[in-house]
Amino acid sequence: MAPVAASRAGSRQNDTAALPLAETLLAWYDRHARALPWRERPGADPDDDVSRPYRVWLSEIMLQQTTVATVGPYFADFLARWPTVEALAAAPLDEVLAAWAGLGYYARARNLHRCAQVVAGELGGVFPDTESELLKLPGVGRYTAAAVAAIAFGRRAVVVDGNVERVVARLFSVETPLPAAKAELTRLADTLTPQRRAGDFAQAMMDLGATVCLPRSPKCLLCPLENACAAKAAGVAQELPRRQPKAAKPTRRAVAFWLQRPDGALLLRRRPETGLLGGMMEVPSTPWRAAPWEGAEAEAAAPVAAAWSALPGLVRHTFTHFHFEVTVWAGRVESVPAEAGRWVTLDALADEAVPTVMRKIIEHGLLHSAGASSR
Ligand code: SF4
Repeated sequence: MAPVAASRAGSRQNDTAALPLAETLLAWYDRHARALPWRERPGADPDDDVSRPYRVWLSEIMLQQTTVATVGPYFADFLARWPTVEALAAAPLDEVLAAWAGLGYYARARNLHRCAQVVAGELGGVFPDTESELLKLPGVGRYTAAAVAAIAFGRRAVVVDGNVERVVARLFSVETPLPAAKAELTRLADTLTPQRRAGDFAQAMMDLGATVCLPRSPKCLLCPLENACAAKAAGVAQELPRRQPKAAKPTRRAVAFWLQRPDGALLLRRRPETGLLGGMMEVPSTPWRAAPWEGAEAEAAAPVAAAWSALPGLVRHTFTHFHFEVTVWAGRVESVPAEAGRWVTLDALADEAVPTVMRKIIEHGLLHSAGASSR
């Protein structure tokens, strides 16, 4: 279904519905753009600022699967530590992973670092300015390539994130549920995208989705596209986009081994380079599986033999595809074999690349280990 009458005459004063939809939205963006740390003012010329591609790329990688509010402080911290792509490329990976800790999806941080090295090395510090060339960089997928091409270089590119999907689904009243509707929504977004100010247009669509066309209660009365919106006209805005019901997430379980030396240092080990939380530091644990762990079986999976005490309660964390429940056992030893891991003093923990789930385990261990009772 097409948007209803982009040219329909409205009765309000200053009605802009007769303008092409992109122009209407850009005029709205000029007045209402969110001020974000990585963003230029609306209408800024991309050629004016040579550091723009670095900032746009960095922010777009950080924003994948993460909210604007969460990314803000991380973005500022990264720019302060590594103001250029060359500086980021030269940083030790562990430092980058540690600075990323808390943003999740750690493969992104590894790709971020690799990408910086490719741009700083092979490409002489210059980001490619086309979608096809950007797509060749590590960690840059379709969405990011389009976003960087449009926002950093002013190229016409169709940028479709979750906010844009929602706005387009409503404007055109698309009934096909997500994710099956993705290709259709991209095609429809393409029909709206202007040649001029493509970066501002992409950001305007995102802002409209984030501040006006909200998931549960769209503020249609404040929307510059109200007169053109098919879902609004049909009274189904709140119900769109439709989604295929998600399968329930399974639960995986593990026992984590909170092992301290007499001086209080904690044993951590590095996870395998590939796979979930690849290369990050962890509190050693049994494998993660659906079945609960019995005592002797978990003990056999411990990094060393020790007089283990089970700490009270459980640590819970939810990943994209599963819930995770961890029982923590505490023990003390003088030393461990080198392959078991690395001792880290508690005041040095903040410098380690420790993902959120492991921080939860560490907080649990710190809270309960002093009064641990024998298992
Ligand atoms: Fe349509 Fe309302 Fe969303 Fe505007 S806010 S695009 S009118 S559903």
